[in-house]
Amino acid sequence: MSQHHKAAKWSTTSRKLRARMQPTIDAGSAVCWRCRGLIVPGTKWDVGHVEDASGRWTGRYAPEHALKRDCPMGGNRSAGGRKGASLTNHRRTPRPSDKRLPSW
Ligand SMILES: [Zn+2]
Repeated sequence: MSQHHKAAKWSTTSRKLRARMQPTIDAGSAVCWRCRGLIVPGTKWDVGHVEDASGRWTGRYAPEHALKRDCPMGGNRSAGGRKGASLTNHRRTPRPSDKRLPSW
């Protein structure tokens, strides 16, 4: 969990946003920002941070599927894991085959 989510401010913000989004979910007219699929009333959903293509938060919030089984894009709960894995994979030390030969 990120610092942002641990902060007391986030729990207040997310609760307010949830309350505001719930009627749309219940009406069956909310779409997941991640996969653009319908969030079926009664399924688990989260207040998501809308990210741009590079994974940076755009400053906007939108509902999204919580669970991977409901979301072709993996849902919110697995997004953190994916981000962590990609960080880990980028941190790996380059293999000798990755090294470029000097151009001279
Ligand atoms: Zn989704």
